[in-house]
Amino acid sequence: MSLNRCSYLLVICLCLAACDTSAPSAHNEASASPGSPGTPTLPPVASLKGGLWMKGDLHIHSRHSTDSSNNPESKIIALGERVGMDYLAISDHDNHVNGDVAHNTWTDPEFRSNSLLLLYSAELTTARGHANPFSAKPYNHQRLYDARDGLDTTLAKIIKEEGVHFSANHPNGADHFGFSYDMVDSMEVWNSSIWSSNAGSLLIWQDMLNSGRNITARGGSDSHHGYPGVGDTPGQNSIQAGANNVGTPTTWVYATARTSEAVIAALTNGRVSISSNPNAPRVELYADLDQDGTMDMMMGDNTAPTGSAVAFRVDLVGVGAAVAPYTVTVIKNGATFGTYTVLPTSPSLSFTDTPATGERSYYRVQVEGQQALYPEVPASALLSANMIALSNPVYFNFNRPR
Ligand SMILES: [Zn+2]
Ligand SMILES: [Zn+2]
Repeated sequence: MSLNRCSYLLVICLCLAACDTSAPSAHNEASASPGSPGTPTLPPVASLKGGLWMKGDLHIHSRHSTDSSNNPESKIIALGERVGMDYLAISDHDNHVNGDVAHNTWTDPEFRSNSLLLLYSAELTTARGHANPFSAKPYNHQRLYDARDGLDTTLAKIIKEEGVHFSANHPNGADHFGFSYDMVDSMEVWNSSIWSSNAGSLLIWQDMLNSGRNITARGGSDSHHGYPGVGDTPGQNSIQAGANNVGTPTTWVYATARTSEAVIAALTNGRVSISSNPNAPRVELYADLDQDGTMDMMMGDNTAPTGSAVAFRVDLVGVGAAVAPYTVTVIKNGATFGTYTVLPTSPSLSFTDTPATGERSYYRVQVEGQQALYPEVPASALLSANMIALSNPVYFNFNRPR
């Protein structure tokens, strides 16, 4: 998907007219199901320590995409470094270079960073939709490109042979993903800073979850242009630079090490949370199976239910100086389970529920509230409206192999 300058101007104008980011969205305490807001002294997640949260953007176009000529890799990486990103995937359209991203995006002398992990990726751009493979090392993208119009089974075989993580881009819209979701490890549920454009993708993800596919939700800015600065061409699509750029949204992964391999493994395993921008809080969801006060599961984890009640916990990390309350919606199996008000001074809540034995269940969380400002990309806060963060699910009885 490529949103041009006019699209951003239009959406910004509409948001200026219609969005009130100063107030959290409506909530209904009475609708809250079993459980209650927790206290600020919840115990630490002892059993899940040892990893680290890393943030990045998984979908960005550089000048190696012909519709992104205003965006050299050095500019993308510099912004990523400046705002504290840990990893980036520059994913240029492969059809703009006849599939040869290996000798364009990846061999560009600017494809380097002292602080960012740079994943190897490209946007598989086909008549049946777009997808990003992710790899910690160079892979043969040309094989995927050459098979783009073939059978799904052929593409799936190449994905497996190349050992890449395969991710569906913007599942809803003009370039919707039309391949089989059985070969997908993750999907771009949150594309660009324009949150309102993701409603259809969220429904498709929910359909996939309800069908038993524990596909990871991830974000991607799909940014096509640079940000204003020295060397930019005035007026050359630079409007998008201030509205949609690195980190809008930001995808957080809970990785076992600071390596590209660990970033991709976390993505595959669903240990992923999405925030509207690098300054917005991250939502974390945990489950305590035996209610002993120690969390046993986090987002992406799957287990068989025992028939006993499970204690869940939601943390908002990085609320900063926010003062307005957040509205946290817990979603179970696609339906609202509870809606809670969480204050920045006590950014946690807990609830209990008993996942049914012999059935699949999943729990996930959405957070709305006053938008965190992102001065480097100032209009993104308007475009993201009240949407702050999205968790991946905690799963019960899902058995799709990873
Ligand atoms: Zn695309
Ligand atoms: Zn794209």
